[in-house]
Amino acid sequence: MDLGLSDARALVTAASKGLGRACAAALAAEGARVFIVSRNETTLAETAAEIGAVGHRALDLARPEAAAQAVEAAVAALGGLDILVCNAGGPPPGTFDSTPLEAWDLGYQLTLMSAVRLAKAALPHLKRSGRGRIVNITSISVRQPIGNLVLSNAFRSAVTAMAKTLSAEVVRDGVTVNNLAPGTILTERVRQLYGDDLERATAEVPAGRLGDPSELGATCAFLCSRQAAFITGQTIGIDGGQLKGVH
Ligand code: NAD
Repeated sequence: MDLGLSDARALVTAASKGLGRACAAALAAEGARVFIVSRNETTLAETAAEIGAVGHRALDLARPEAAAQAVEAAVAALGGLDILVCNAGGPPPGTFDSTPLEAWDLGYQLTLMSAVRLAKAALPHLKRSGRGRIVNITSISVRQPIGNLVLSNAFRSAVTAMAKTLSAEVVRDGVTVNNLAPGTILTERVRQLYGDDLERATAEVPAGRLGDPSELGATCAFLCSRQAAFITGQTIGIDGGQLKGVH
């Protein structure tokens, strides 16, 4: 299927590794012109070369000014913007009891406000595009909170509600807004979280294996395609059956 992405202009954030990288690589493989952002310049430059990104910029998305800088740099490099894939590093783990109040401020900036600020900065360009796409990477936790991840649980739910609200406001401008909710997909973060105990992670997945980042990347590319123009305000689970609820 031709996804109609050749020459689409895409900004993918937190894209030097893992899920963000997989989205950027999938879009580039479909012919999109991709600009990537992440914290570490060296890893980011390597990834940009490996996936054939048009450009890159090292930025820390927990900083309030980073979102507008990311969009500005992408638009300058690409001549406009059709696609925003909005990803950031996960907030620090912890229970409600063990999480200090200051960590809530970091979670708010990194997880919720980076998504809000990126969408705000990108929307004028996405509306101009006429085929705008926003894809937020969230988590299975928006439907089934995960123990010891109170910040992720709280702020990703807020991103989901924000995205749903926004989706109805911009669909007549040709812009769709959707979320990808990964279960356990084998990235560096998951290796760090589970250490040598990947079997424990796998045991929770009816598919009997962990996800591959490329599976999330392919779903992202489809949501960004012309064929997906009528899909908006949705949260799509990519979890091998891990979510236990009906919805
Ligand atoms: P990862 O650690 O493999 O990659 C994270 C990427 O984010 C890297 O490119 C890193 O440079 C970048 N990054 C981190 N903090 C940043 C910051 N402040 N500013 C800019 N860039 C930053 O992680 P991943 O597994 O790809 O996860 C991506 C997101 O998806 C995270 O928020 C994670 O919590 C969430 N998530 C992942 C899974 C999974 O199974 N992998 C499941 C649910 C949710």
